[in-house]
Amino acid sequence: MEIIPLPAFSDNYLWLIHDGRHAVVVDPGDDGPVARALAGHGLELTAILLTHHHADHTGGVAALARAGLPVYGPAAEHIAGVTHPLADGDRVAIDAPSLALQVIAVPGHTRGHIAYFGDGMLLCGDTLFNGGCGRLFEGTAAQMHASLGRLAALPGDTRVYCAHEYTLANLEFARAAEPHNPERDAYRERCRALRDAGRPTLPTDIATQRAVNPFLRCDSRSVRDTLALADAPDVQVFAGLRAWKDRF
Ligand code: ZN
Ligand code: FE
Repeated sequence: MEIIPLPAFSDNYLWLIHDGRHAVVVDPGDDGPVARALAGHGLELTAILLTHHHADHTGGVAALARAGLPVYGPAAEHIAGVTHPLADGDRVAIDAPSLALQVIAVPGHTRGHIAYFGDGMLLCGDTLFNGGCGRLFEGTAAQMHASLGRLAALPGDTRVYCAHEYTLANLEFARAAEPHNPERDAYRERCRALRDAGRPTLPTDIATQRAVNPFLRCDSRSVRDTLALADAPDVQVFAGLRAWKDRF
């Protein structure tokens, strides 16, 4: 099984999961890069997985979804072309490439956003980013905080496939939000070297995100001191961080 990022627009990754013959694409906001990758690797598309309704994640569905192609997506959002609407706890089984995934409802960025977890990987759209998290377009801070909490509780070695390359900007914010975090500083240097070499900083993993991502570190003393929220509930620290990042 191979998982390759297809860069699209300015900073999206469309993830293509394939076994050498059959492929599944996650959040195809643009059909062009997907069609070129399928042709280039000699792959047949067998399913589409969608995390939420935004156009940069769904714009290529109509062009890619030939009749009979399963299109999985959140039941709580209206997305044209979805054939298999999914809710929290549902399971997705795909024969080729062989995938067994569990659906986790992660409201916050949008009301119905879902993530897919299984086979040691997490496909999380615009909910958890490397070093950051999605904006609150439809959901509340409390919802996003709870959603990120569920993702952070997954096994530490889970590989995390986010839909955008926002890592360096996120880690710049992380430095402001949590000045004292040597592990994050070292990780930031590694990510900068990857970007300088023209490579993605993804996938990351859950253990790394617990260590470097301020949005998963609302209990950190350094974060709390920065926000002057020493004794506030975690969710209030999260709301403070998210509001600050919107202006950062
Ligand atoms: Zn989005
Ligand atoms: Fe997006």
